[in-house]
Amino acid sequence: MELASIGGTARGGVCRLALTDLDRRARDLVRCWLEQAGCAVRVDAIGNLFARRVGLDSSLPAVATGSHIDSQPTGGKFDGAYGVLAGLEVIRTLNDYRIETRAPVELCVWTNEEGSRFVPVMMGSGVYGGAFTLDHALSASDHDGVTVRQALNAIGYAGQAPAAVCDGAEAFGAYFEAHIEQGPVLEAAGAVIGVVTAALGQRWYDVTVTGQEAHAGPTPMELRRDALQATLRLVQAVDRIAREEAPHGRGTVGCMNVFPNSRNTIPGRVAFSVDLRHVDDAKLARMDEALHIAAGLLHHPGSIEVDLQEVVNFPATSFDASLVERVRRAAQAQNLANIDVVSGAGHDAVYTARVSPTAMIFVPCKGGISHNEIEDASPGDLEAGAQVLMQVVLETAGWQLRAR
Ligand SMILES: [Zn+2]
Repeated sequence: MELASIGGTARGGVCRLALTDLDRRARDLVRCWLEQAGCAVRVDAIGNLFARRVGLDSSLPAVATGSHIDSQPTGGKFDGAYGVLAGLEVIRTLNDYRIETRAPVELCVWTNEEGSRFVPVMMGSGVYGGAFTLDHALSASDHDGVTVRQALNAIGYAGQAPAAVCDGAEAFGAYFEAHIEQGPVLEAAGAVIGVVTAALGQRWYDVTVTGQEAHAGPTPMELRRDALQATLRLVQAVDRIAREEAPHGRGTVGCMNVFPNSRNTIPGRVAFSVDLRHVDDAKLARMDEALHIAAGLLHHPGSIEVDLQEVVNFPATSFDASLVERVRRAAQAQNLANIDVVSGAGHDAVYTARVSPTAMIFVPCKGGISHNEIEDASPGDLEAGAQVLMQVVLETAGWQLRAR
């Protein structure tokens, strides 16, 4: 709640965009808590913050956990912040019980997961995992032309440590990320813990349908080139394509611009987005093919023309099978109702999975609502997720009680 007060909104949410002064204050607070817990903190060249609790064997790769503390413009208190604070609680608990781990335990706070101010999203973990280069990320700019490089310098978080594993950053022995589910599946199933087996692959498109503007009155129906009517058929095809690949198919048209958007002019052009997702890359490829076929059926040169451009192609991620099993067993050991789930959203864990064995722990959020100021989660569920995180970190790192 103290972290959520930094950028807290009147409606009970959080507005703390990446690399703003509010982000700096939140980072400073978390950093202070981590240093008070005895961790050594370092910052890398993309502003990712890592806090290390030493292990008995410093030659072992760290067992890491974490998430992000930037938010959407109308975000909630828990998205990201939960994973960071659950990790902090694990470290504090290790201290309280005088537990020494064999491998070091490390907490990560990844830069700009949300992608609201700077694109690409999941920026800090993306650089870490080699999804794109450090230079590409540093050169990204916001609507005012401020670059990530300038913003990092302005808030004092342009660090020295290498940011990418391919440039010498340490690959973790394991990475666990606790996160609110951001969807309604756990609540509907009455489960407290989501054992996340995979994250959906995503393909995004920009589509433009072009017809011809004409007067709504004098133009008979059979002589129109109505771009919006053609668009509607394609929009319905997106929904059908996703339903045909149930239960993990997703198809969304979330954004549409109609030109000229005048009530007595037949629309001459419509530009819209398509977002297709599936956990199985072969099925996602089939959905892509079906979308192209549907677009092709509407395309009649000189009459209605359809332009379909792919703008994002992001394969599905399978998390590490043995770490996933460890999460499942930890939930069972504590008699926590759990189900296997797939993540429909992107997370930093998707990029860490490219270089380190990775698993995720989901807990329910109220009504499945996230990216919303009313986002909420129950203390009991949050505690359960932290308890599972504690157990998998201990098992993976190895441990003993400190001698008196
Ligand atoms: Zn998040």
